[in-house]
Amino acid sequence: MYRTHTCGQLRASDAGKKVTLAGWVQRSRKLGGMTFIDLRDRYGITQLVVKADAPAELVETANSLGREFVIQATGEVVERESKNAKMDTGDIEIQLDSINILNKSVTPPFTIEDNSDGGEDLRAKYRYLDLRRNPLQRALKIRHNIAIEIRNYLDSQNFMEIETPYLIKSTPEGARDFVVPSRMNPGTFYALPQSPQTFKQLLMVAGYDRYFQIVRCFRDEDLRADRQPEFTQIDCEMSFVEQEDVLNTFEGMMRTLFKKIVNVDIPNPIPRMSWYDAMDKYGSDKPDIRFGMEIHDITAQTKGFGFSVFDSAEYIGSIAVPGAASYTRKELDQLTEWVKRPQVGAKGLVYIKLNEDGTVKSSVDKFYTPEQIQAIVAAAEAKKGDLVLILCGAKRKAQTMLGVLRIEMGNRLGYRDPKVFAPLWVVDFPLFEWDDETNRFYAMHHPFTAPKPEHLDWYYSDKKEDLERVCANAYDFVLNGTELGGGSIRIHEAAMQERMFEILGITKEEADYKFGFIINAFKFGAPPHGGLAFGFDRVCALFGGQETIRDYIAFPKNNQGRDVMIDAPSQIDQVQMDELFIQSTFKPEE
Ligand code: ASP
Repeated sequence: MYRTHTCGQLRASDAGKKVTLAGWVQRSRKLGGMTFIDLRDRYGITQLVVKADAPAELVETANSLGREFVIQATGEVVERESKNAKMDTGDIEIQLDSINILNKSVTPPFTIEDNSDGGEDLRAKYRYLDLRRNPLQRALKIRHNIAIEIRNYLDSQNFMEIETPYLIKSTPEGARDFVVPSRMNPGTFYALPQSPQTFKQLLMVAGYDRYFQIVRCFRDEDLRADRQPEFTQIDCEMSFVEQEDVLNTFEGMMRTLFKKIVNVDIPNPIPRMSWYDAMDKYGSDKPDIRFGMEIHDITAQTKGFGFSVFDSAEYIGSIAVPGAASYTRKELDQLTEWVKRPQVGAKGLVYIKLNEDGTVKSSVDKFYTPEQIQAIVAAAEAKKGDLVLILCGAKRKAQTMLGVLRIEMGNRLGYRDPKVFAPLWVVDFPLFEWDDETNRFYAMHHPFTAPKPEHLDWYYSDKKEDLERVCANAYDFVLNGTELGGGSIRIHEAAMQERMFEILGITKEEADYKFGFIINAFKFGAPPHGGLAFGFDRVCALFGGQETIRDYIAFPKNNQGRDVMIDAPSQIDQVQMDELFIQSTFKPEE
């Protein structure tokens, strides 16, 4: 037996016991003839001591230990004279009578402590060393605990965990596929799943009724923000359900997780908001409802009074920022520059200050009478002390910009307390999004999402404006301005699925080639069904209280989609290429 206890286990009540620990030397130091060693394993750190009068050989071994040596140490647990309340094992130390060096270590490239001195790139290259650090061990432990709770909850609701294949034919979720060449079928390729969408639907056709899987998904996207090319979903599907059943089941799951993992009671029921309200009031399909500062449509009060910028705009909207009337000229100029950045994309910013002394000052005073300004202020629902910020443009675009500005002002005012959890279901999404560039409709969720039954006439209409009005039975789970999951009630009839592909401009031949299997399956008694998927990595980051999902993935990729530890992706040798009948046309730039 290598050890009798772990490094996180021993307490004052163990004093007098003879124990053996095994672990890594975090650091060792000499003090007044004694040697102190911090020994670390997954469970904690225990202080070891070699006394000055210990046998010379032992003292010598103790003094030869370098950082990250792996040792086995035997001795007696003694209560410490000076206790360390910050450590779980801080009441004791082990007075050693033997040290067995199990393995040496070269000097690690950074200190393996809670606050490491290693930069991000270096730690990524030596991820296995970074993973020895406490914060990462805690993160992976939370991930494990959440997975267990999810499995328990879904099992209690009769869900079965069923694996689906990774080598498949493309499943469109709006990103590019990663592809894998097939040696046995030369010239052909598998796609890695962007999600198990079609498979879980086929499992419903197969009668499995309630399916889930904690499953890896692959999307070849530019890695904006906090994305990974491979990530994990909690993927679920249910038969004989309506939207209400799905929302209730997964509200239950999220409630259980919040309670069990962070002991938080989330609102019951979780509020719901239509996509249209979310866009109109918050300028986002994932609104942060921890604070108000809602957007108001002030087009009627501002358009047609001779201010040409507004007169030529489709939509003019505002937010009223509490207490910000005190913004100085300089601060307003900076804010104007901020909204002009490409990330926001506004052309300019109009403001009205409602000073505490009752005076009103705006950047458009010369275009409006004081009464007209008052009418704008009333429509913006602003109060004394507020700063009214106004943007204009095409309706949804202007609302989106106002939404970004609202979040920024919410951050500046400290309205986005990470300890407050405001979950929300966003429902009633439009089924389609029109794209001017390609001149066609796209599925807002994915092409297997069903239209609302009451919108079927529009769904089968040929008019663009009818199709634009069709709502989907789709829903997103949003928390504090982040989308954690989403799904829909699905199409389960072949003819309706074929109509979907037709609207999306996919020819019959192409639809048959790409999706014939699912259209066909729907001809064999497909039950009504629906489901959703949550981003598991993001759920973990949320409960762990961190912004980045990278800490919750044992071996993540960097911003360029590279694993710098194993140096992937990399070239493969010519023999492999030849076997696959592949030639690279890539020419590295000089
Ligand atoms: N497959 C969808 C996604 O990955 C989720 C769903 O509709 O169930 O977003």
